[in-house]
Order: sequence, then C-alpha cells, then structure tokens
Amino acid sequence: MTPCRHPELVLGRARPRWRCRHCGLTITVEELGDGPCPECLAHRGEHCRDFEETGNAGGAARAYRCAACGARIDWE
Ligand SMILES: [Zn+2]
Ligand SMILES: [Zn+2]
Repeated sequence: MTPCRHPELVLGRARPRWRCRHCGLTITVEELGDGPCPECLAHRGEHCRDFEETGNAGGAARAYRCAACGARIDWE
C-alpha cells in the first residue's frame, strides 16, 4: 500500500469531542460510539453517559481531513 501524502487537506470540524463530567476524559464520537465513558467503566464500573461537548474555543486542536485517503490529521 502506497503511503498517502495527503495532498488535499480539508479543514473540518470533523467530529466534536466529548468530555466526561465525572472523570474529565475527552473522547471523540468515533471512540465513544454508543457506549458509556470507558474510564468510568474501567475504574468504577459505572456506566456514565454524562458528557459535555468541548468546543473549539481557546485554540483547541484543529482537525484536518485528507480528501484522498480520509485520514484525520490533528494540528495544535
Ligand atoms: Zn491522505
Ligand atoms: Zn468518565
């Protein structure tokens, strides 16, 4: 498989991130899926779904996506 050199980067607010109100874990929607917070589940056995969306305020990492291969690239 030839490595993609990502010639076409598109700026995206691809997916929002969520922060667990209990443990502070931030996680993308892809990682989270439909499940509860994995940190709370692993450490306390709780099925925590108390999330808040973290916005892009304060110079948060911007997400780019390569239109050629679909890879996501995060830059600070
Ligand atoms: Zn690419
Ligand atoms: Zn949690």
